[in-house]
Amino acid sequence: MRALLDIFLPRHCPVSGRPLLTDEPGPVAPEVLRALEVCGSDYCARCGAPQGAGVGRVGSCDSCRDATDGFGADGITAVGRYTEPMRGLCKAMKFGNARDIALPLAAFLAQMLLDRGVAAGVDVVVPLPLHVLRHFERGCNQAELIARPLARALNKPLLSRALRRARGTDRQARLSPLQRRRNVENAFVARPRLAPRLAGRHVLLVDDVLTTGATFAAAATALRQAGAASVHGAVAARAALDDDR
Ligand SMILES: [Zn+2]
Repeated sequence: MRALLDIFLPRHCPVSGRPLLTDEPGPVAPEVLRALEVCGSDYCARCGAPQGAGVGRVGSCDSCRDATDGFGADGITAVGRYTEPMRGLCKAMKFGNARDIALPLAAFLAQMLLDRGVAAGVDVVVPLPLHVLRHFERGCNQAELIARPLARALNKPLLSRALRRARGTDRQARLSPLQRRRNVENAFVARPRLAPRLAGRHVLLVDDVLTTGATFAAAATALRQAGAASVHGAVAARAALDDDR
């Protein structure tokens, strides 16, 4: 059946563009996943950035030295840097309607959270929400695409609607940089109905890419305001400010 489908409806790797063979289930060409540099035991505990071989676990790094509040999180786990092929994977997940790409990324994150001893302390998994209009436009929230299989792999409850974007954050373009920071500070609120499920809980906050961390920090703050005991971040990629988005 698959062989027939591949003749009439050839599948292509959304990252490399090459046709996938009948015995390649996808969602991406295996060489793309093999080329992914998954962070091992050398990493920054604060921002998740992979570090040089032999450095081990560090408390802060060059790329997060100014983020003394730790992005509102107690630590962040990132699969890797926002370089190819990770960039291609994230873009395909966001814009290419290639939802299954989230599965290997969630699998890597689950393994890392288990290896780093974070998973055991997690009570609930919360994806960072998209603005409702953006969500409608894209048809899905890439953070939730990762969070859902990640929660399943860790056997933790998923609270996909715990946070919502507050109004007024979609006019960022007209604001000065300082106003933007202030604007994003209150960009999220916890839904009152679900707040009791956050109170006193250790939350794993999931997003696709962490760059400045301003949006992430705003979401973490909203979780803490709802009574979350701790927030740990799980992201596919840790991007540097000068990375091409
Ligand atoms: Zn760092």
